[in-house]
Amino acid sequence: MVRVLVPFSSSPFLPFKTSHLKIKHKGQSSAPMLAKLIVPKGNKQFEGWTSIPLVVFGLVSLPIIGAVGAFYVNLTKATFWFSSFYWVMNGVGILVGYHRYWSHRSFNASLFFQYVIAIFGAAACEGSIMFWAREHRAHHRYTDTNRDPYNATFGLFWSHVGWTMVRPPSGGHRSGWVDIEDLKNDKVVRWQHRHYVVLAILMGLVVPTIIPGYLWGDWKGGFVYSTVIRMVLVHHSTFSVNSLAHWWGDKNFDDKHTPVDSNNPLLAFITGGESYHNFHHQFPMDYRNGVKWYHYDPVKWLIWGTSKIGLTSHLKTFPENEIQKAEFTMKLKNLAKVQDKLKWPKNGESLPIISLGIMLVLSRLVYPKRTLTANAILDKKHAEAQSLILIGGFIHDVSQFLDEHPGGAKVVQSFIGKDSTSAFFGGVYDHSNAAHNLLAMRRVGVLWCGYETGGPEVKDFVPPSQRLMITTYEQRVEMQCREKIPFLTSPRILS
Ligand SMILES: [Zn+2]
Ligand SMILES: [Zn+2]
Repeated sequence: MVRVLVPFSSSPFLPFKTSHLKIKHKGQSSAPMLAKLIVPKGNKQFEGWTSIPLVVFGLVSLPIIGAVGAFYVNLTKATFWFSSFYWVMNGVGILVGYHRYWSHRSFNASLFFQYVIAIFGAAACEGSIMFWAREHRAHHRYTDTNRDPYNATFGLFWSHVGWTMVRPPSGGHRSGWVDIEDLKNDKVVRWQHRHYVVLAILMGLVVPTIIPGYLWGDWKGGFVYSTVIRMVLVHHSTFSVNSLAHWWGDKNFDDKHTPVDSNNPLLAFITGGESYHNFHHQFPMDYRNGVKWYHYDPVKWLIWGTSKIGLTSHLKTFPENEIQKAEFTMKLKNLAKVQDKLKWPKNGESLPIISLGIMLVLSRLVYPKRTLTANAILDKKHAEAQSLILIGGFIHDVSQFLDEHPGGAKVVQSFIGKDSTSAFFGGVYDHSNAAHNLLAMRRVGVLWCGYETGGPEVKDFVPPSQRLMITTYEQRVEMQCREKIPFLTSPRILS
């Protein structure tokens, strides 16, 4: 097989050799000065980078021309509908073609459909498929690193548009190595790359101006709305995926890197449904970005629709089980964050072990001969009598709760200084889960030899709020080690 090598430049928008354009390098023009404003500061990777004047000029001037033009040129109904149609087709070329087909190979496409998306993709003037898909694959492979061309950790401006305006010094690379052998061997990609400049000018500038001008005489409207404003919208909707979709939203499937799923319908609309970017980075070969049926992802619907008429086929999806597993993991992680913010009852290890005698003394139900320990506790900390109740092996101080007890203070008072376990768990009243959680917060000690650890009945004494507590892998290992040591031996004992 003869392999055709396609000339490839590292400059976006210019997939041909740019030396004849006389773009000067560092020290030769003001380009380095401009580059200094654009490139992220404090990173040696960018030493010697220069700006690309043509791109800078294009990206800055187009919105200005569009805004001024819209002020002076009326938008006719026919031009509005044509511009909208052309904007959609341009988006189809970039989102369906450049992104989901050539960058990720998430489905197969007929040759006719490949040419359609390659031609309309060129209308965005965002570079050839070869350039675009290569950079995008590097973005996925090296996300948030120096080898990621639109590294979101360098800030919104850089990831949105800054990265397109500068290039590395001669011989340098904007992004890390990725495999693009399939693109080099793809005849539509090679054809589009070879004729990219003509296609970009024709489809990006000439056709959208000529059609409104020639067919209904709106040359100015064709230029301002169908060409300039349409192109600006396509540029910034594409750029928004690299910037806003790495910044504004939720990490529903993974939190290792910056991509987020945006729940903002406006961003979903602007990006043509590509704002479900957290999912996309986790499952890039999936033809869907918005995985739920109700997610606004017109690209997904279009690919699915074209598969029904034979234009596309072999739509790839990741196993649902793995998608749900990723989502489940993130839900647990987020719940763990909520868990960390809550106050939890003290466990046996952090409470003193108190004998029944001391418990009665503290409750002033028994007045023993003065022992050193008991007197010290009574004098220093417990000048007033405490209302201590034993439930499930834990001693609880309910002094502050007597008046708040829904069943009345008298019921509680009758159990002070006693083991009220069976009364609490149904003997007198089968308390609610909330009551159990509240009680656990009033623990002040563990009864010496109060109950055995590890038995099935102990589980009932664990407050409901703690029965489903989330533990990390490290915590679990630590707990397994500690289980070998009875907790009663570790705390200090008061007797
Ligand atoms: Zn991304
Ligand atoms: Zn992608």
